[in-house]
Amino acid sequence: MNYMKYRFYLTALLLGVNTFYAEAQDQVNVIRCETVKYMNEVQSKDPQFLINQAELERQTEEYVKSHNSNKSTNPSSSQRVKRIIPIVFHVFHNGGPENISKQRILEQVEILNRDFQRLNADTNETNPLYKSIAADCDIEFRLAKLDPNGNCTDGIVRVKTDLTYNADDNIKALSRWPNNKYFNVWVVETISTTQVGGVVLGRSQFPGGSNTTDGVLLKATVTGNTTTFSNYGRTLTHEIGHSLNLRHIWGDATCGNDFVADTPPHNGANSGCPNNKVSTCVTGNVIEMTENYMDYTNGVCQNMFSEGQKTRMEAVWNSTTNGRNNLYSPSNLVATGTNDGYVAAACVPIADFNRKQELCSGTTVPFNDGSFNADAIAWEWTFEGGNPSTSTLQNPSVNYSTAGKFDVKLKVTSAGGVDSILKTDYIRVFESISTKVPPFTLDMEDAAFFDINTVNAGSNNKNWERVTNAGFGSSSSLAIKYFGISDGQINDIILPTINFKGTTSPKLTFNYAYARRTTLSNDNLTLGFSRNCGVSFSNLFNKSGSVLATTANSTSSFVPTTDAQWTTVEVPLDAYTNEDNAFIRFRATNDGPGSNIYIDNIVFSVTTGIDNFLANNLNLSIAPNPFESTTNINFYLVQEAKVQISLLDLLGREVKTLDASLMNSGNHSVELNTNNEINSGVYLLKLRVNGIEKFEKVIIK
Ligand SMILES: [Zn+2]
Repeated sequence: MNYMKYRFYLTALLLGVNTFYAEAQDQVNVIRCETVKYMNEVQSKDPQFLINQAELERQTEEYVKSHNSNKSTNPSSSQRVKRIIPIVFHVFHNGGPENISKQRILEQVEILNRDFQRLNADTNETNPLYKSIAADCDIEFRLAKLDPNGNCTDGIVRVKTDLTYNADDNIKALSRWPNNKYFNVWVVETISTTQVGGVVLGRSQFPGGSNTTDGVLLKATVTGNTTTFSNYGRTLTHEIGHSLNLRHIWGDATCGNDFVADTPPHNGANSGCPNNKVSTCVTGNVIEMTENYMDYTNGVCQNMFSEGQKTRMEAVWNSTTNGRNNLYSPSNLVATGTNDGYVAAACVPIADFNRKQELCSGTTVPFNDGSFNADAIAWEWTFEGGNPSTSTLQNPSVNYSTAGKFDVKLKVTSAGGVDSILKTDYIRVFESISTKVPPFTLDMEDAAFFDINTVNAGSNNKNWERVTNAGFGSSSSLAIKYFGISDGQINDIILPTINFKGTTSPKLTFNYAYARRTTLSNDNLTLGFSRNCGVSFSNLFNKSGSVLATTANSTSSFVPTTDAQWTTVEVPLDAYTNEDNAFIRFRATNDGPGSNIYIDNIVFSVTTGIDNFLANNLNLSIAPNPFESTTNINFYLVQEAKVQISLLDLLGREVKTLDASLMNSGNHSVELNTNNEINSGVYLLKLRVNGIEKFEKVIIK
């Protein structure tokens, strides 16, 4: 590549010109890599990054020159050194599938080692034109066996956090190991992007950037040998290429410069699996190297780094930039337990498990062992309120039949030791039919209200709280204070389950207040309704940013001071009058420069009174029917009511009456005995509940 172009590139970098680096996408919304866009953002805030990059570029230029002259004078001499690199995976998860298995990580390391040593099975797919310059880069990654404190590790750290959604650099602070001793990979559910609907697969940091963020942010679904987005584990191969100062093969510009002499010029990023694509950058029918890991082609058809790229990477290995030259030093390999011959001790496991915490009574739920740091060989579970109440299976299923909050305990044993974890009030079991019946109001004036609700606690920095300095028509409300909190947090309030069965025109109204911090604030509030015990929710209200805002932006932590800063939302629930156990969830999501959201006066109203509601929810059954002299009348009361039971003939005359009485809420079974004093025939059973009558036909044999 010509020198002028090179100088211009550096000048562009130093001036912070970023027009050359528009990121390409291989298909709608999939962003294979956001490294260059990220680099430009970081460099605009960190001038030292640019200076370090320029210095590394100068060193690289020198190294390449001397390497090439060595090669020409003594082409047969081998200066080859295989570099062993300690690597650590930090898996940030929220208890979902993003908490990928150890197997997937082992698989990923294997793929890296094949790709960086040209041991990959698909080397035969390399275009014959380029086979002679396809490089064994002499890099072997080994999962760390000793952590920074010298403790036993399997090179995998797991941290529960909802920052795993739309993850950004701040998540790295939750777990990172010194980058001059370990190569850090952070696995997350999703990577933050400004592209609407964009899915970013990976994001690296070029050498020269901050040590605290040095490494690769990798999407969980493309970690390991997965076919998602045609990854095949090559996303991390590509990203580590960037960490070793490799540019995209098209130079992030039309026919741009990747600072590598033996790669052909590319028009731009390629996608899919092109075959013999001719570069139009130059004359002479030059075929683009679309199988290069630094293109945007599908992982399944990438299979090589070039010798020129290898030389460029070696220049980084020789550099003190970000301490890269220490990673493979013999003393560091000993310190990280990655040296040849190191016999790893059996680690002590770290006990953990995660699952959805809310469920309805009568349901059986699977528990999954999420312990890490060592392979467990024995498990001892204790399930308060569950059946079974103990288990020694790794992944037991447990039935919960009564409502309440229950502890779960897990003790795990590995060859190296024992660990246990107790999660207090972890499982919240709701009644199978709710006794909470509208109309009712949650006005937040009562501090006890908050205790009866599920609040998303987890590992969040901030949760919903009851405040007494703001409210609509009062001084109390619920608040989620996102001001000054890193974005990506999700916070739920799940209301007590509610019974809408038989109600007429049920409706939910609530007040909320939200002021954006800046025009970039895009916090979200949704109201979800679940018919299936919280397994899935449909959104009845969903607003973000400027649409959510109820008042002018506030550069300080927002507190609504007048009712005019609030708005009222009315949500008809007519579609839910068959639901006897509805879950209603308010969910806030922090996006951008976050700001505070307040909720007050959650009111459930109906157009008919409670008595109709009671009568519509009786679930009346009579068994046996027909009967000879005795039968049972079974019914359900959503709340305490005055009940009278009578037997009528078909002319409506009472032939027998049981005493009226006040009955508690819940299931009832009342025996009716004719004492053989009533003739055979068809009769009507009348149930009178708080003055409203229900009839059922009965036959006396
Ligand atoms: Zn890239």
